[in-house]
Amino acid sequence: MVRTTTETITNPYRLPRTVVPSAYRLRLDVDLDGAAFAGSLDIDVEFNESVNSFALNAIELDVSTATVRVDGAEFLSSAPTFDETYETATFDFASDLPKGRGTISLTFTGVLNDKLRGFYRSTYVDTTGVTRLIATTQLESTDARRAFPCWDEPAFKATFQVTLVIPQEMAAFSNTTEQSSTPLGAGRREVVFAQTMVMSTYLVAFVVGPFEATAPTSVLGTPVRIVYPIGKGHLVDWAMEISVHALEYFSDYFAIPYPGDKVDLLAIPDFAAGAMENLGCVTFRESELLIDPSSASHAELERVALVINHELAHMWFGDLVTMDWWQGIWLNEAFATFMESICTDHFRPEWKKWVGFNSSRDAAFTVDGQHSTRPIEYEVVSPDDCRGMFDVLTYEKGCSVLRMLEQYLGESTFRDGIRIYLQRHAYANTVTADLWSALEAASGEPVGDIMDTWILQGGYPLLTVTGTTVSQEPFAYAKAKGESNIGSRWRVPVITRSLDNASTDTFLLIESAQKVAIDDTTIVNAGGSGFYRTTYSGEHLRVIANRLHELDEIERAVLFSDTWASILVGRAPFEDLFTLARGLEPLDEPTAWSVVATAARLADRFLDDDGRDALAQVVSQLLGPVLSRLGITPIAGESSQAGELRAVAFASLGLVGRDTQVIDEATRRFDANSVTGDLADAIVSITMRQGRAGDVAICEERRASATTPQDELRYLYAPASSVDPAVVLDAYERAFTTVRTQDAPYLLGSLVRNRVAGPQVWHLVTARWHEVEERFPERSPIAIVAGVLTFMTDPALAREVRQFHESHPVSVGQQQVAQILDLMDLNVDVAQRNVATLATRLRSAFGASSET
Ligand SMILES: [Zn+2]
Repeated sequence: MVRTTTETITNPYRLPRTVVPSAYRLRLDVDLDGAAFAGSLDIDVEFNESVNSFALNAIELDVSTATVRVDGAEFLSSAPTFDETYETATFDFASDLPKGRGTISLTFTGVLNDKLRGFYRSTYVDTTGVTRLIATTQLESTDARRAFPCWDEPAFKATFQVTLVIPQEMAAFSNTTEQSSTPLGAGRREVVFAQTMVMSTYLVAFVVGPFEATAPTSVLGTPVRIVYPIGKGHLVDWAMEISVHALEYFSDYFAIPYPGDKVDLLAIPDFAAGAMENLGCVTFRESELLIDPSSASHAELERVALVINHELAHMWFGDLVTMDWWQGIWLNEAFATFMESICTDHFRPEWKKWVGFNSSRDAAFTVDGQHSTRPIEYEVVSPDDCRGMFDVLTYEKGCSVLRMLEQYLGESTFRDGIRIYLQRHAYANTVTADLWSALEAASGEPVGDIMDTWILQGGYPLLTVTGTTVSQEPFAYAKAKGESNIGSRWRVPVITRSLDNASTDTFLLIESAQKVAIDDTTIVNAGGSGFYRTTYSGEHLRVIANRLHELDEIERAVLFSDTWASILVGRAPFEDLFTLARGLEPLDEPTAWSVVATAARLADRFLDDDGRDALAQVVSQLLGPVLSRLGITPIAGESSQAGELRAVAFASLGLVGRDTQVIDEATRRFDANSVTGDLADAIVSITMRQGRAGDVAICEERRASATTPQDELRYLYAPASSVDPAVVLDAYERAFTTVRTQDAPYLLGSLVRNRVAGPQVWHLVTARWHEVEERFPERSPIAIVAGVLTFMTDPALAREVRQFHESHPVSVGQQQVAQILDLMDLNVDVAQRNVATLATRLRSAFGASSET
């Protein structure tokens, strides 16, 4: 495995360290109407040796000759030569430039593109119906080179001083505080920002447009503002509350003050990712920042909290201490994902964030149990390799293994290790081993040896508990047809707890089988943070199943996830999950219940009408009493879990259970335009499922006049639940015309999932696949492919889907596509095993009659 800088320096995509920048002074004249920009740039550099040529990164820019001043002399380059593959501009000189400190000066021009990367322009219609323009940046991973010539690698850290020339009436933001604003005449002004700290190019940001900002709130001396498109000032309070808490919390957790001079959190109308951690100038999709707590669901509020916490954690972990090269991106993202949950748990302990995290861990398990998985960390050569890493294995699996380690070492020991790591490497770059060595210093445990088995190989183990022996074997959902990326053995940190005396213990499972001090009353994976599956044999399992109520909430959720995994691999009958769920009825535990709801939705897709009737009876038996107990209207002071469980029960009963009372309630609320709170999504999808004339027009009208980003998306995606193919196909057409490109791929993915027209939409979309790749932001075609996951249980269609996507690889993220195709095959297998007999087995297990 490649782990050091010296080994990767032969990578042709990387620049040599013969010339190293230390400070950029960048002036950009932004022409919004003309969709263009002109820049001038001075870069202070160190010539580490005498050269007559040097290269830096630039692509889609027109760059002038360079003037170099070094050692009192001035040198002029020839016109730069460009390399499209390595995205470089090379400057040659007639004579040798001497060794020493120098300054490079050049000018350049570029186009504000519409691809939501680099320095790009977006057009949107504001709340008063007026069309507006903004120019903004998204420079991660390697698109700073599209905005200005630079040494565009995370290890070339430097300071940046940005000056923007913009229309007089517009607002401008960058990484640091505004130092001056000077009118230039002709409706233009010049805005100068303070010099940044030493940081990587991918964290530079500048945003220009008709924005407003809240008054700053001072958090430990740092001014914090929420910045939003004009007219959306009523949606910022939640974001401010979360941000204030997060900055206080992280300053304490990391024991290092916030490293920048201010924090702006900006809602951007067109944004390809969810959010971006530009130092001090954090950009978000509107739906990830702006929200109305009085009408939003708990899930939507928690989502905004998680995303803000994630980005602000990056100010330290990522911005202050940065990976040396892109293969270390997992550490950035896994750690920010870990911190988003820790911080959210501190903000609202009653939300039980780490219980809810079980669903994210399951998402990682699902991909990582396929032979097409990959190690969390792997060699990154090209920018495309790097862009393929922003997936569930980097974020959710990475977070899961960090959480497992934290719980094994102890929370305060782990935090001490993180403090050591950040203090040792502030303003510098690291490789993964640097984190392990800091955690080893804090804990005295062989952290590197343990974690290498989780980071450098794919997959995870299944632990089998037989008597006092615990053994491990690789977990896989299917037999390998060819090569497998699933590893063979792990160093598993195991936490155990006895149900009798509640004492916890830990051991490290290193061998394939070990004798340990446990008995039939021992919970293995106590606290539920292990990244492994567990099966108990015989009497042990009976004891635990009989004492289900003595488990922690998260341990129960894990038991349901493990049971579902056994069903998916064919080791347990499908109905086992439903019979186990009988024990959940009195418990407000949405995380465990959502595993049951997922299983019910999958069965609902592959069963015939008679089978669906049997399934509907089971769902009514299980969740009917839950909804009766909770009531349909929230009770003042109830827990957030009660609200979330109500949503799970309401949706399952309305969609799978086809419960007439629930359906009537959903349509009544839809008609009354009372679509708020935890039930909002379910109300819309249940209503659309009824196929009533006129509802789709109402959804479109409500989307167009929505006052929150969450409502806008809810109604945008509504056609995906329709039973009318014409409605689905109309939405498909709009995805290629009027729907914003940041949303269209997700809309198409949801339409591909549609019960009646999904396959047709997939055929239509793939017939214009070239257009899909051209039109939508990079990586977003994966969102469309992901749509095949839940509807493809038909073997013939699945073969066709696989054939198409294997012969039409996407430019970035084809490995994710391969994983999706394997998940599709898993669903097909489960359907094939159960389609003929599940109805009979359900009736026998739940005693329902065949008449409905
Ligand atoms: Zn992140």
